[in-house]
Amino acid sequence: MPKIPVKLVSWDEIVEWSRGLAKRVEESGYTPDAIVAVARGGYVPARLLCDFLDVTDLLSVQSQHWVEAAKAQEKAVLKYPYKVDMRGKRLLLVDDIVDTGETLLLARDFIRDNWEPDEVRVAVLQWISTVAKFRPDYYYIEVRDWTWFQYPWTRLEDTQQFIQRILREDPRLQDKKEVEADLLVQVFREWYGISPEDLGWYWEEAIRRLEKKGVLRVKS
Ligand code: AMP
Repeated sequence: MPKIPVKLVSWDEIVEWSRGLAKRVEESGYTPDAIVAVARGGYVPARLLCDFLDVTDLLSVQSQHWVEAAKAQEKAVLKYPYKVDMRGKRLLLVDDIVDTGETLLLARDFIRDNWEPDEVRVAVLQWISTVAKFRPDYYYIEVRDWTWFQYPWTRLEDTQQFIQRILREDPRLQDKKEVEADLLVQVFREWYGISPEDLGWYWEEAIRRLEKKGVLRVKS
């Protein structure tokens, strides 16, 4: 078993899951006047839901909890907490996943208390039911075994962070000025259960960026 199980999610899966989620909203009879994307993970699903539910108004709030891929910070924080008058409106708050649920709870409560909509419901692609603090109104996939879902819009960022984490935490790589390419790949596979081949050009690009930042040098 990898230390941090990672599932690479494809763009096709995102479209399929968003379509399934939109169907659930539609079948419930809820007709939102506007969609609110939780930045940054909710942007792509929220835009697709606008398309699939015929919604033209799209806003966003930035609520942040996970500062690094697969590593949460203590408390979720709401950046740029602006106010807007949503009296008389039904809102759909959209994010990619409910893990602990901190991010969405913070965003939902802020919107309820400050934007004063008639109603705000929450829709996500995935819900990790075994750890989440709440159950969203709509979800497409219920996850029971905790996994880091590597969504396609954050592949380069996540890959860099995955590599940085093993450089910091794996004793075979710690404090090395130069790292053997084969060893890096082996440790990466052991930690995350995925390979550079699965990541395609993202792997090379992540290494290039980390080398540029002076974080590592890879010897082949
Ligand atoms: P949370 O506050 O724990 O519910 O997490 C909120 C945000 O962190 C999500 O909207 C995702 O963008 C990201 N995130 C948290 N857990 C995961 C996970 N297991 N896989 C992928 N992204 C995650």
